[in-house]
Amino acid sequence: QREIALAHALEPAQTLDGLQVELVANIGSPEQAVEALTYGAEGIGLLRTEFLFLERATPPTEEEQSALYRQVLQTMEQRPVVVRTFDIGGDKPAAYLPMPDEMNPFLGVRGVRLALQQREVFQTQLCALLRAGVGHHLKIMVPMVASIEELLAVREQVQQAQADLVARNLPYAENYELGIMIEVPAAALMADLLAEHVDFFSIGTNDLAQYTLAADRTNASLAHLSDALHPAVLRLIRMVIDAAHEHGKWVGLCGELASEPLAAPLLLGLGLDEWSMTASAIPLIKQTIRNYHSAQAHEITQHVLASCRNAAEVRAYIRAMSEAVHVQP
Ligand code: PEP
Ligand code: MG
Repeated sequence: QREIALAHALEPAQTLDGLQVELVANIGSPEQAVEALTYGAEGIGLLRTEFLFLERATPPTEEEQSALYRQVLQTMEQRPVVVRTFDIGGDKPAAYLPMPDEMNPFLGVRGVRLALQQREVFQTQLCALLRAGVGHHLKIMVPMVASIEELLAVREQVQQAQADLVARNLPYAENYELGIMIEVPAAALMADLLAEHVDFFSIGTNDLAQYTLAADRTNASLAHLSDALHPAVLRLIRMVIDAAHEHGKWVGLCGELASEPLAAPLLLGLGLDEWSMTASAIPLIKQTIRNYHSAQAHEITQHVLASCRNAAEVRAYIRAMSEAVHVQP
């Protein structure tokens, strides 16, 4: 199965009846973009920019950032590249930012919350992104959004960055997309209203599972609880995809769930548009998708969402169904 997958890595992911989905990579450095192409990535679904900000004494400059973003965009040519603005905080502190000790860092000042508190650092990143995006397919994505107010504040910040670049007479990307991660249950529940103000969503199932199931993702003894195949998480994912599609917006998923073969029929059945994962997982997931007919994926999904009571039942059901039709999930 793995050999077949590698041999066909560069071909698209299409179900037996011809439904095509987009498979892209999660990366954390420009070098990984080059590697992603060799595994058949059709773009980048998540560039984690924290690598630029952590383990240093001062924040990166606009020029420094812009050069690195441009490197990734140039590697990917005209393929889509989703760059996530810094997701610092939680378990990822930055020494130069005034970040008080928190009792519950995962429920604290992280992601967009920190960006809106540290507006200068955020502005620098937005300017760097807009400058790097000229001539490329740039999508800006904001982590940890939990409310419409945060999203509107981010939009204002992007407009301000644009105005700043105009004032400085610098060229910037005008045709970028702006989207948010859906990784807080409140955002999933409000997806219909958030969808009006974004170009896309990308579901972060690592955090969405952690917050939905109230189980710290870094606590190994709770790993069995923070499982993204839990029906509670799957129901939220369904809400998000349906809400986005009703508003004509596309939806990606960039948590670990995207690289789990057993999740493939569910994500197909739910209508996920873009699957983003560690590059080395792309060939196998493409091959898994090729094993399914979309009607069959839809049937599996209907049953799981209506009847399964926990993640173990979800896994057992998908395994049984896949064996019945001789596919290897
Ligand atoms: C997620 O939360 O699912 C995600 C992709 O973001 P990170 O793992 O960087 O928090
Ligand atoms: Mg996350």
